[in-house]
Amino acid sequence: MEGHQLLSDEHADENGLPICNVCGEKRYIINPLNNRLCYCLCSCQKEALNKKEEDLKKRQQDVKIEQLKLTSLLGKRYKNVTFENTEVDEENLGIYSRVKRYAEKYDEMLKNGYGFYVYGKNGVGKTHLLACLCNYLTERFQTCAFTNFLNIAEEIRQSYSDDHFESDVITKYSKVSFLFIDDFGKESYKKLKSDTNNLWLEEKIFEILNNRYNNMLPTIFSSNYSLKEMVQAFGFDKAIIDRIFELSTQIFEMKGRNRRYDLSSRGCW
Ligand SMILES: [Zn+2]
Repeated sequence: MEGHQLLSDEHADENGLPICNVCGEKRYIINPLNNRLCYCLCSCQKEALNKKEEDLKKRQQDVKIEQLKLTSLLGKRYKNVTFENTEVDEENLGIYSRVKRYAEKYDEMLKNGYGFYVYGKNGVGKTHLLACLCNYLTERFQTCAFTNFLNIAEEIRQSYSDDHFESDVITKYSKVSFLFIDDFGKESYKKLKSDTNNLWLEEKIFEILNNRYNNMLPTIFSSNYSLKEMVQAFGFDKAIIDRIFELSTQIFEMKGRNRRYDLSSRGCW
């Protein structure tokens, strides 16, 4: 204590020892081991220190969430959509509630490897709904990948031309905690099929889905088509559809008007 200079928020007591101007507590104690005076923090100092630590922790968490959002590959448009800031009407209330319930029980879903499949017409808001879930999960420090089979295929193809390995891509999508396959459908499939060199991609897709099935990791799909339509109308590989069916513990149809032409959501200038 000797030589302690009073701080601007302290005054001296009758013995010249520091007292906090704000809470009036002593900023010294007598060390019982050697009976010497030592400086100690008052309540406001402790509170300020805690706040500083919490702020630092929060900043570190924000950085981690930002990284998880970045690696999730979710597009900028959907980066900040949440269950809370999404307007839900009678038409989509049911499905939003169910997916929100899934979100709230994510640890259980992860433990059991539960995924789901949501299908419905173009523009009813499937991607938006899944983006809400993806953001909910990354904000809780879960690793997610939000992509589609075409992008995965492109990534595999690119791995041949740069220094990466195809197996790295497969491993990445096989291991991420929650994999979102958005817009699973005939277009991408036709495109894959049309290029005869790409027939192997079907195998790669199956490999990823199979790994996830074996590792009990959740996979979430959105599509314009039901699984039945995939097989019947588009001749999708039955083994893949079977795997998707097994990965999807729930299958929902999303109905409603096409929200893409909703003028109220447009910006003004
Ligand atoms: Zn104080």
